[in-house]
Amino acid sequence: MNYTIEKVTTLIGARRFGNAEASIGFLLTDSRSLCFPEETLFFALKSERNDGHKYIDDLYRRGVRNFVVEQLPEKWEERYPNSNFLKVVGTLEALQRLAERHRDEFDIPVVGITGSNGKTMVKEWLYQLLSPSMVVTRSPRSYNSQVGVPLSVWLMNEQTQVGVFEAGISQPGEMQALRDIIQPTIGILTNLGSAHQENFPSMAAKCKEKLTLFHDTQAVVYCQDDELVNRCMSEFAYHGEQLAWSVKNNKAAFFVKLIEKKDVTTTVTYVYNGKTEGSYSIPFIDEASVTNSIVSAIAALYLGITTEQLAERMAKLEPVAMRLEVKEGQHGCTLINDSYNSDINSLDIALDFMSRRPDHKGRKRTLILSDIYQSGLTDEKLYHEVDDLCVQRGIKKFIGIGEHLQNNAAQFDNIDEKSFFKSVDEFIHSPEFGALSNEVILLKGARTFGFDRLTELLVQKVHETVLEVNLGAVVKNLNWYRSFMKPTTKLVCMIKADAYGAGAVEIAKTLQDHRVDYLAVAVADEGVTLRRNGITSNIMIMNPEMSAFKTMFDYDLEPEVYSFRLLDALVAAARKEGITGFPVHIKLDTGMHRLGFDPEKDIDELIDRLKHQNAIIPRSVFSHFVGSDSDDFDDFSAKQFALFDNASKKLQSAFKHKILRHIDNSAGIEHFPERQLDMCRLGLGLYGIDSRNNHIINNVSTLRTTILQMRNVPKGDTVGYSRKGKIDHDSVIAAIPIGYADGLNRHLGNRHCYCLVNGQKAEYVGNICMDVAMIDVTGIDCKEGDSVEIFGDDLPVTVLSDALDTIPYEVLTTISNRVKRVYFQD
Ligand SMILES: *Cc1c(COP(=O)(O)O)cnc(C)c1O
Repeated sequence: MNYTIEKVTTLIGARRFGNAEASIGFLLTDSRSLCFPEETLFFALKSERNDGHKYIDDLYRRGVRNFVVEQLPEKWEERYPNSNFLKVVGTLEALQRLAERHRDEFDIPVVGITGSNGKTMVKEWLYQLLSPSMVVTRSPRSYNSQVGVPLSVWLMNEQTQVGVFEAGISQPGEMQALRDIIQPTIGILTNLGSAHQENFPSMAAKCKEKLTLFHDTQAVVYCQDDELVNRCMSEFAYHGEQLAWSVKNNKAAFFVKLIEKKDVTTTVTYVYNGKTEGSYSIPFIDEASVTNSIVSAIAALYLGITTEQLAERMAKLEPVAMRLEVKEGQHGCTLINDSYNSDINSLDIALDFMSRRPDHKGRKRTLILSDIYQSGLTDEKLYHEVDDLCVQRGIKKFIGIGEHLQNNAAQFDNIDEKSFFKSVDEFIHSPEFGALSNEVILLKGARTFGFDRLTELLVQKVHETVLEVNLGAVVKNLNWYRSFMKPTTKLVCMIKADAYGAGAVEIAKTLQDHRVDYLAVAVADEGVTLRRNGITSNIMIMNPEMSAFKTMFDYDLEPEVYSFRLLDALVAAARKEGITGFPVHIKLDTGMHRLGFDPEKDIDELIDRLKHQNAIIPRSVFSHFVGSDSDDFDDFSAKQFALFDNASKKLQSAFKHKILRHIDNSAGIEHFPERQLDMCRLGLGLYGIDSRNNHIINNVSTLRTTILQMRNVPKGDTVGYSRKGKIDHDSVIAAIPIGYADGLNRHLGNRHCYCLVNGQKAEYVGNICMDVAMIDVTGIDCKEGDSVEIFGDDLPVTVLSDALDTIPYEVLTTISNRVKRVYFQD
């Protein structure tokens, strides 16, 4: 559903410069995600950190000709022939306005979903409930922000029969804009929780802000049993139909008569509108799934689904997996596994993710895809689009699984290497399966095709213990710390010690994609590994070994210099190679008394020596706080800062070029933002740990294992070596495959700490062994094969570090290499 550039200009009320003809089908806000340049309209958004106008040049070179801007680039006519610049006051507002005008074209039901949790699950389930009967356009993944919502609404097209969109807010005043774009006819409030509460004066204020979405809707779905929601709804003076649900009030529009939980299913019996009785079962038993199913059911019934259809489709509900996982596979393959519902929009997002991760070995990019259902397009058109997308995103090999793909093989005329199979089974038994090697493979399949089996066969056999690393949380933490910094302050991300245990290569890829200024590792070899894996960012080496100078020159790794001995050796090595102007980072010791030049005694001589050579050049000068994480050391920190400030200014004044000054680490960024100078060094905070408050910002790493075996141990018996685990009442003991050789500290044993089994605390019993530990699961509903959380999303790592009387750094960095790291993006 394309728009001419004239039409777009009118719709957003822009002033147009340039008169090239153009037809717009795609909106772009992130230059890295460009796919179809000719039909793309780029919005140069401005944020505190970044300015989209910077990317116009690059995008023009890559074929984009249409731009929405706040300022015209200089000499645009000469530099960018045959292009259009639409000048507006605010580019974000223009994007929102265009989506709003696009929405106006449709006179169809549109569901707007908001709430603190469960928005994405409800959206996906509603899609699953509706899509067998109608064409649904919905937000891809959780695109629910001020930028995500307009991009989602833009996806509505001629085929769309119903729209389902999420609206997420973090600040007062944001909902109004989202409402104007979505213009929902039906509203759903999933629930209210404490997310983003810091920005709102009260829960009631946040609730009211959320209800703004529902102003002009015909009906609103909400839970009447939640007192706060109920109160806000009555104060809100809502005129539409109130589709409230309740387990108590039989007058509610959706009265839940009975909720019955069995082993793996839950049955909900209801009365809808006081007359229609029905029931359905879902293949889940957790509380969140049950309430999410209820609101989805109400919206589906309201949209005309029959009780029979509802029951039939509810029974087949699929879990909503939001994760894009990166795993090491067999035969040198890397697997990107996306089990999120298979549709063309989420395919595009997954392909974008894949194409943005550098691959050093230049391995072939392969897509294994299953049939896509309910796209609203003819197969021919759909798979032709998939083919286009693959070519644009650099796919060199295509494997299609399913009869529809097989029948449409002809659409894939742009990809040379391709094969098609009726089923996963047929593929697994084919020579093509055996031939997969040295490829980066994106697996994207509808669950019904059994892609889990395929993934299982392709991944390297892993130890049952894994460290799951949430790359999305890394980015959230990055942005959280950036919020304390001026937009112009640069940032070094510390990824020493294998990124505090999380795995340096994948973390570096994510950070590079988010344009951090520097990455820092401990030794040269770590830097080499990054370079070999396609990392091109600036890299700093914090503990350069004298034996590795040549490596540093070869791989552009910038050493820290902390002593005259190191300085002399480095200068000599650089001269030998004929190198001049190699950037280094000067470390001053202001109180740690570890490494560094003395800021008072050494500084003059240091300046003198630096000035009398041209092999190296100081790129930055820094020092490190010894106690920025505690107020107790504020006086000392002030002293450190004064020493650093003096000496570093002196160094700067001796040189004409800019020398970056930096001293703040994670705790410093938060505690002393006034000392951020030119650059900050973010370490532990990136991994989600706020060391000042011993609290987790956004959890990054979760260490998980599974129950190997369970047994009853009678009172009086013991568990483990040296009979340390005395059992004082009949107990159930489970063995888990993780021991001190994996980094599970032996001092956690003998009930000094616990792990979580199905959300419940299970203490370590007896001594922890090398590869196995035993836990007390008495009274916990669990079985062999169940997952166990050692620390992570639900059990903060600080619980372990506190129990061990150490710091979280130590717990994270001692997880051994044999524990597989699994990366995902939510
Ligand atoms: C490790 C390190 C940091 C990061 O410290 P965090 O407390 O993890 O933020 C900063 N600077 C230097 C010199 C470091 O060695």
